[in-house]
Amino acid sequence: MKTLRLILGDQLNQNHSWFNTVDENVIYIMAEMKQETDYVKHHIQKVVAFFMAMRHFKEQLTSKGHHFIYFTITHPENPQELKELITQAIEKNQIEKFEYLLPDEYRLDQQLRTICNELTIATSYYDTEHFYTTRLQLKEFFKGKKQLIMESFYRMMRKKHNIMMVNDQPEGGKWNFDHANRKKWKGQPTIPHERGFRKNVTDILKELEEAHVKTFGSIDPEQFSWPVTRADCLSVLNYFCNELLVHFGDYQDAMHEEQKFLFHSRLSFAMNAKILSPKEVINKVLGHYYDHKEDIHISQVEGFIRQILGWREYMRGIYWKEMPEYKTLNKLKNTNSLPDFYWTGNTKMNCLKHAIGQSLDAAYAHHIQRLMVIGNFSLLTQMHPDEVDQWYLGVYIDAIEWVEITNTRGMSQFADGGIVATKPYISSANYIHKMSNYCGNCHYSHTKKTGDDACPFNALYWNFLAEKRNHFKDNQRMKMMLSLLDKMEGKKLAELQKRAHEIIQNPEAY
Ligand code: FAD
Ligand code: SF4
Repeated sequence: MKTLRLILGDQLNQNHSWFNTVDENVIYIMAEMKQETDYVKHHIQKVVAFFMAMRHFKEQLTSKGHHFIYFTITHPENPQELKELITQAIEKNQIEKFEYLLPDEYRLDQQLRTICNELTIATSYYDTEHFYTTRLQLKEFFKGKKQLIMESFYRMMRKKHNIMMVNDQPEGGKWNFDHANRKKWKGQPTIPHERGFRKNVTDILKELEEAHVKTFGSIDPEQFSWPVTRADCLSVLNYFCNELLVHFGDYQDAMHEEQKFLFHSRLSFAMNAKILSPKEVINKVLGHYYDHKEDIHISQVEGFIRQILGWREYMRGIYWKEMPEYKTLNKLKNTNSLPDFYWTGNTKMNCLKHAIGQSLDAAYAHHIQRLMVIGNFSLLTQMHPDEVDQWYLGVYIDAIEWVEITNTRGMSQFADGGIVATKPYISSANYIHKMSNYCGNCHYSHTKKTGDDACPFNALYWNFLAEKRNHFKDNQRMKMMLSLLDKMEGKKLAELQKRAHEIIQNPEAY
């Protein structure tokens, strides 16, 4: 039967069983489409990374004998839209069966279902063979439970996949070494330089211009530094194991003006595009750890495994359990708009200047910058979660809705009312000062609460608690914060709230 098989841009799994044999009757189809570049405005590096990765993937499989139809963004016959792409290819090639891999985005899942319903030939879908869990496994695991606690999901995953387990007990005697992962980085230990695989992307930039793809952020056309081929992704994984893993856990939450990546792996794009599988990343890291146990403490490794086996699979399960309603949630009823400096980095608040600035420069910020600087400010200034989501979905190299929205709307903005997080991730300047060197070089004083040079986060923090008090009054984990608020002298709180309102009304001035 002559079969057409669709591969989306984030389904670049070369080890998928589809490719075990070359079949003359199978044509694979891939396309760089305006439908995908335009559903949100993306960072230029994100678009370049996906298109380069797709082209490379196609080349690799073509060289093994597989047949491909591939439309570049400027190809004159590119329909730029999924339905037309599929129907046109079916007609032109006398296709008798259409097959696709289950998408990870709700939007594409719906679109493909509709297309298949309208087709008159046989259709079927397959798993991407990427994740440890199926879409609905988390839903089944938490059936009947009120709270969807990540930690219990993570422990089940450790046991089920026998990862860092000794006779049914967690290796090292503890499930979680989080308390050890809170060191501030002060210039030491040194961070070794990464092996180079810089690519010249001048040609693809020209194509994007020709196709009028609207993007933002900056890019160095001669030194594009994201790994997009499988070989480069594997070399980044090796580099992580050899050079960074040894300190990963310790400095997982640290932030520094001069270090964008610190000891983070930068593997999220490689995994989200499915160039690397979570299993091979975890197996490689564990293999390295067991070979170097005398040099690497378990806390460095457990912290990393938890992010991938725990958080990553958990967020995917939450997405498929809660969509499409999840996308509409705004439980704190926040309505403010993003200030212009989210697109420029031009603010006197040094932490935001650096976290946003590096996001625009590199399409990357690590977890704590996303959560405790940019996300924290967005929540404290009560920005609309739709706007916050759009920004995060556009700016980061690894942003695909299933993992972006659960982290942003859920973990960071508490707009889901506590499905993902048991309390909002908010802080005053204290936390940022503790984990970074941002405050030392800031226009504002992290210790001051009021006055022109007081850190805006301080007034915003108390104002948020005061304004959202009712929402959190029955939340046990907020008890301590709210009791401190209640003890605050009325005049003092009024002063803080006055300053907070001035900041919220005109964030550009700060
Ligand atoms: P490392 O710190 O080296 O971690 C290793 C891997 O663990 C990552 O590559 C990633 O695959 C996984 N991981 C870590 N934390 C999480 C998490 N919370 N959820 C899911 N996987 C995790 N991650 C994305 O992949 N795409 C997003 O769009 C995204 N948006 C985020 C938005 C906000 C507001 C927050 C707080 C976090 C977001 N994250 C997102 C999670 C995390 O910040 C990134 O995965 C991480 O910074 C990627 O860099 P890295 O590969 O160097 O990660
Ligand atoms: Fe950020 Fe406040 Fe510290 Fe400045 S003082 S870097 S605004 S937390």
